Amino acid sequence: MVEKLMDELDVKLYYEDSYIEEFEAEVLACEKIDTGYKVLLDCTAFFPEGGGQYSDTGTLNETIRVFTVKEEDGAIWHYTDETVEVGTLVTGKIDFAARFDKMQQHTGEHIVSGLVHELFGFDNVGFHLGNDVVTMDFNGELTKEQLRLVELKANEAVVDNVVVETRFPDREELSQMEYRSKLELTGLVRIVLIPGYDVCACCAPHVGTTGEIGMIKLTGAEKYKGGMRVSMVCGFRALKDYNEKEQSVKDISVQLSAKPEQVADAVKKLEEQLHCEKAKYAGLVASYVKSRIDGLKASDRLAFFSGEELDAGIMKQYVNGAMEVTDGICAAFSGTDEKGYSYVLGSRSLDVAEIAKKINAEFSGKGGGKPPMVQGFINGKLDDVRKFCESVSEK
Ligand SMILES: [Zn+2]
Repeated sequence: MVEKLMDELDVKLYYEDSYIEEFEAEVLACEKIDTGYKVLLDCTAFFPEGGGQYSDTGTLNETIRVFTVKEEDGAIWHYTDETVEVGTLVTGKIDFAARFDKMQQHTGEHIVSGLVHELFGFDNVGFHLGNDVVTMDFNGELTKEQLRLVELKANEAVVDNVVVETRFPDREELSQMEYRSKLELTGLVRIVLIPGYDVCACCAPHVGTTGEIGMIKLTGAEKYKGGMRVSMVCGFRALKDYNEKEQSVKDISVQLSAKPEQVADAVKKLEEQLHCEKAKYAGLVASYVKSRIDGLKASDRLAFFSGEELDAGIMKQYVNGAMEVTDGICAAFSGTDEKGYSYVLGSRSLDVAEIAKKINAEFSGKGGGKPPMVQGFINGKLDDVRKFCESVSEK
């Protein structure tokens, strides 16, 4: 098997030509595993997962699904759902739309990382190329303006439409070369060169010319491990991203009756309005609470106030106000018969901690505190709670 694994270049077809969609290969091994089978071929155009990038997917002989590809101890294994016969020839076919999408993202990543290195001296120390998200981690922080500059220059590189070259320099040439690399490299080193923008050791497939990348759009940046994690979309992903964001802005624009370029201002106005309305509402609630307190008499043994969604501040405001009028039980409840009620109890003359214990016992509740005011939560019907409070207050 090892003898048949020949030269790396003869095995890894994607090394020299990233546009091979279909190829013929001999089956060297096929092993049964828990999830199906894994197949070793004498050559392959399938790029295995590695260096932050997901593997290619596709088929063998049209119908056998290749759902992931992994390089293990120098051998590239194709994980399939069916077996193939050792010694036979198979036709491998990769899902090329997905592969091309990854080529767009990956070449875009090289340009951006090369520019960040050249302009600001930071290294790319982490790369993730998933099916939706591409992120690059840099070992230094970049400002908004710096990121804008990188984005602009990256798109200039696209317009320049330079040829992306791959080289396999020998040790001598390599020692003379300036290039980016995350690893100490041994064995065959593949250099991906984007003249004027980047030189990097990389084994992944790239587009042939930078124009094929399409737009390079940096979509986000956040501080990460003392540096920065930058997210990016390129090519058709950038178009998809634009379409989604455009639709979102259009929907908001219709709802706010504002032009798309003015939605942020319109939302700000709406926030101000909401703030005003909240203040008005709070004023109305406060005057309602006051009117309820004004309606109380010193001889009342129970002051009772309830609502579906009273906040704790309003409940305390009522109980405090009521306690100034009566020395009986002052109680506020917020909730519904179905969900239960939170409560605030207060009294100038009675031990509300004791009363709370009784209420909790009667209505499977919890809570308490120090008199003259306690808080808690109970389950039960409001009518029953009121009757219970009346009976307790008269004792
Ligand atoms: Zn790379």
